[in-house]
Amino acid sequence: MDISHRVIVVGAGPVGLCLSLALAQAGMQVCLIEALGEDNFLEQVPRAGTNHPATLELLERIGLYDKLEPRGIIAPLVHYWDRRENRLIAEFDHGLLKDDTRFPYVLQCERIKVVEEALKLAQAHPNIEVRLSTTFASFAQDADGVTGRVINAAGEGETMRGAYLVSAEGARSIVRKELGIAFEGFTYPDRTLNIEVAYDFRKHGYTERNYISDPDEWSNLFHWKGPPDRWRVHFPTEPSEDPEALQRPEALQARLRKFLSSARDYDIVGSNLYTVHQRVAKKFRGGRAILAGDSAHVNSPIGAMGMNSGVHDAFNLADKLLKILRKEAGEDLLDRYERQRRHVAVQHTQAETIRNKRRLAEKDPAVRRRNHDDLRRTAEDPKLARAFLLRTSLIESLREAEQIA
Ligand SMILES: Cc1cc2nc3c(=O)[nH]c(=O)nc-3n(C[C@H](O)[C@H](O)[C@H](O)COP(=O)(O)OP(=O)(O)OC[C@H]3O[C@@H](n4cnc5c(N)ncnc54)[C@H](O)[C@@H]3O)c2cc1C
Repeated sequence: MDISHRVIVVGAGPVGLCLSLALAQAGMQVCLIEALGEDNFLEQVPRAGTNHPATLELLERIGLYDKLEPRGIIAPLVHYWDRRENRLIAEFDHGLLKDDTRFPYVLQCERIKVVEEALKLAQAHPNIEVRLSTTFASFAQDADGVTGRVINAAGEGETMRGAYLVSAEGARSIVRKELGIAFEGFTYPDRTLNIEVAYDFRKHGYTERNYISDPDEWSNLFHWKGPPDRWRVHFPTEPSEDPEALQRPEALQARLRKFLSSARDYDIVGSNLYTVHQRVAKKFRGGRAILAGDSAHVNSPIGAMGMNSGVHDAFNLADKLLKILRKEAGEDLLDRYERQRRHVAVQHTQAETIRNKRRLAEKDPAVRRRNHDDLRRTAEDPKLARAFLLRTSLIESLREAEQIA
């Protein structure tokens, strides 16, 4: 088999799927390996869901945006609230980015819808061999390519060859571990509780995306299109709290009631508890094996940057792999991928998400007041507000990466 134009992609998450589609649509062959099968692919826990403007431009390039828009909510506004005083601190309107992007809004569209629609496109594409129910196990590389070892749907060991291997298998990347690449950073001791509830919080002044600061119990509140129409509410928990007790129906009701009192029980659609890591891989590649998305960097969801920055990795990498596979550039172009995307991961995604969490959870009253005054002033000045939105929507990170040689 001629493998000179063939790439093995591990993981049909948003990153692996976007990369596969971008490569295949440009004429390359892709073998996409995914451990989940037709029977359980749609049973994944709720995760990302806010798609920033720059990401929407990329999703449009591979024909995915048109599939997602009808399934999502167009949300131009984002709110910052002070829960202690039950007060809106600042409202930012992505409309201020109308000269910076064709999409001056975010699309609230959950990761599961993104991967469902992208998988359909991948399965319909003649250049992509989608291998579901296939678990990647290990790999070896030589001067010409990479050999991946998998356990296939029949439970048998199998090998496959490609010119390059991309690890888009998420935070537990086997490829990263086999390459011996350190995943530097830290893990927060407290876990975040996510409650999905069918209740319209707009009645109380909230918008589709809300970040709510509180010294005792910060939260995030996001709206998703149904059925059933749902809101996701995030709360911090104490490291010592029992996961089972935290998710008992009466405990979930009590938390929601404390957040917003209600005479009736809330209609809770689901809940889950997750640990938050802030980590970046020391290197993004070892020879012909390359890391992208969560396998290269993970961060707190406050700011909605994980999936977005992962998708940005995918398109950056696709452009470079295409040049290399077409022999228009040497393999050292992949070093630029690492320089650009590692810079974004450390200087933008990590910095911004750590700052976001600190701002929401701040306990010192003087610092809280200063933070809130800053946000208010920024939102009130269109120039400052535009600069704020360019940063939070990751447009600035893409522009900065372009300047990196
Ligand atoms: C609760 C929560 C909320 C979040 N909210 C946001 C948000 O609002 N916005 C945002 O941008 N990000 C958010 N994130 C982060 C976001 O979900 C991730 O950054 C994103 O899903 C990463 O995409 P990925 O494709 O790199 O990896 P994943 O989405 O993790 O996909 C990896 C895929 O690889 C497969 N796989 C794994 N191991 C193997 C193997 N050995 N063989 C074969 N297949 C394998 C998995 O089954 C999976 O399909 C959130 C995360 C969490 C936990």
